[in-house]
Amino acid sequence: MTNPLLARWDTPFGVPPFAEIDESHYEPAFEAAFEAHDKEIEAIASSADAPTFDNTVVALERAGSSLERVGAVFFNLTSTDTSEALQDIEARIMPRYANHMSSLYTNQRLFERVRQVYSQRNALAIEQDGVPGSDRRELLEELHRRFVRAGAALSDADRQQVATIDEQLASLQTRFGRNVLADTNGFELLIEEDADVSGLPGSVLEAARAAAESKGKSGYLFTISRSSITPFLQFADNRELREKIYRAYVRCADNDNDANNREVLRDIARLRARRAKIMDFGSHAEFMMDDRMARTPARVRELLDNIWRPASRRVAEEAAALQDRIRADGGNFALAPWDWQYYTEKIRSERFGLQDEQVKPFFLLEHVRDGAFEVAKRLYGVSFEAVDVPVYHPDVEAYRVVDADGTFIGIFLTDYYMRDSKRGGAWMSHFREQSNLDESIRPIVINCCNFPKASPCLLGMDEVRTLFHEFGHGLHGLLSNVTYPSQSGTNVKQDFVELPSQIMEHWAMEPEVLRGYARHHVTGKVIADEVIEKLRAAETFNQGFATTEYLAACYLDMAWHSIEEADCPTVSDLERTAMESIGLIDAVDPRYKSTYFQHIFTGDSYSAGYYSYIWAEVLDADGFEAFREKGLFDQDTALSFRRNVLEKGATEDPMVLYRRFRGRDPEVGPLLASRGLTEDQ
Ligand SMILES: [Zn+2]
Repeated sequence: MTNPLLARWDTPFGVPPFAEIDESHYEPAFEAAFEAHDKEIEAIASSADAPTFDNTVVALERAGSSLERVGAVFFNLTSTDTSEALQDIEARIMPRYANHMSSLYTNQRLFERVRQVYSQRNALAIEQDGVPGSDRRELLEELHRRFVRAGAALSDADRQQVATIDEQLASLQTRFGRNVLADTNGFELLIEEDADVSGLPGSVLEAARAAAESKGKSGYLFTISRSSITPFLQFADNRELREKIYRAYVRCADNDNDANNREVLRDIARLRARRAKIMDFGSHAEFMMDDRMARTPARVRELLDNIWRPASRRVAEEAAALQDRIRADGGNFALAPWDWQYYTEKIRSERFGLQDEQVKPFFLLEHVRDGAFEVAKRLYGVSFEAVDVPVYHPDVEAYRVVDADGTFIGIFLTDYYMRDSKRGGAWMSHFREQSNLDESIRPIVINCCNFPKASPCLLGMDEVRTLFHEFGHGLHGLLSNVTYPSQSGTNVKQDFVELPSQIMEHWAMEPEVLRGYARHHVTGKVIADEVIEKLRAAETFNQGFATTEYLAACYLDMAWHSIEEADCPTVSDLERTAMESIGLIDAVDPRYKSTYFQHIFTGDSYSAGYYSYIWAEVLDADGFEAFREKGLFDQDTALSFRRNVLEKGATEDPMVLYRRFRGRDPEVGPLLASRGLTEDQ
């Protein structure tokens, strides 16, 4: 019997034949796909012909197509519709998969051939058939970079040392995360049934009572997990309790117990610094930046500084306003970090308070989705038509995406509802990526969210933004128009990938667009202008705080990853120096302090990379400004964004792509304006 994962898919549009696939098919299919890929790699590595761009670089692009297909089905389903059986297979397959990929990029014979092609890159006729061929140059450089970053260019001794460092880092990073979890679980604020809970809304108290009950206790249980501490700090009138829980939060994994992360994170920082030196970089930050759009730590610092100055002016004003509010309420104390959210919430609800009932009925899921489709239609002329194809779950809906001239673009799947078999969060993924190497391969893109399933399904404002955000990633995958698979769609640098998604969020909030899709789900009435006004005004509120606490964490991240191995400061020294150098006010702490800064210490990918959220925000705000200047749906601007960004994937340096769209480098002005941080606001 043939394995459906390895057979030809005679389904409409070549969608995976989900109904025919069962759990027993995955492991044999993976084994066959690994073997096929190994054979292809071996053929390239042992070729008797002199290495050329085509017989090495392009050949590697063609290799592994079976693994692509099997992996796409498996990795999508383990995220969206997993089971115990799939989890067991995942536990066995993941190490095999990681090994397979790392042995590819440390294959010395293969690297030697790549290196030879790379060394002739200037003499190489990269141009082909009159096409400039910048995608070919980029493909070669990226491939070479992958080998080099995997350690392929090192001496055997150095490579061995890097492997040892990687192993040590893996275990330290795991320990860092476990310590944060242990200390988070270790703290409990249990409030007696009849004690002071004034200010806390009923829904928050219900959740806290359930939390207590689940531990066999009575009363209300609060913890320092974000979902528990945030409403507590916003609403609890009792200032001493706010201080108590806040202090516990900022001491997470920094207590006198086994879960203290101070030395763990210093070890991580030192090992990363050592590895960077072996790789011939001045610091870990430089090493990471070599693979990002920002290119150098200096450019990141310049960006942070440019936003820091206006943000710190604004946060001082906000602090003064909160102090006034404390005095007006009869308080006789100086504003402290545990007061910030509490008094901010009071002002927020008075100024922009919108009840859920005023907003949610206007955001029926189907209307919001169609609103996103409408934006794509008006910008790019593409339309989405419901289509009947095999899907893996009844919640999944499929659309045939067609260009203005009727050309078929790809298949777009939506999987919007929460369920036990799906992981949390929202994301875009694909079952097939676009490419034009030997034939035109059309993409199958999917958007996943976790909206509570209900009929009608009414969304909150954050969920509306999420839907538009993922749809933006979806368009990046769908409108991709590249030759080589590895350059397709969203396979771009980490600090560039959020541009297409975040820019879409701007349209969601435009009054003109809202009036189109935000219609009452029963009466059909369009959302009122006063409500739109309030929604938009709330966006710039408290942004001095939000921006400085985030930037402060970015500065910490950069400081830890610029250190010398032999000269690693203590946690207290580094934090003090870093915060003094920017002048962070006492009433604000960095969004994360070192001992619980999981983004940067539980794995490499966001290390020296916490800045990338605001880097991308500079791009999306500045990019959207082009539409504001010329018109929300200006066709020339839209076409330029499509041709220069959405279609281009990773075929060129993202800064070059951006400049081609915008006609200049990105500027921070529009971001400052959208956060309300410019002088005159
Ligand atoms: Zn995103």
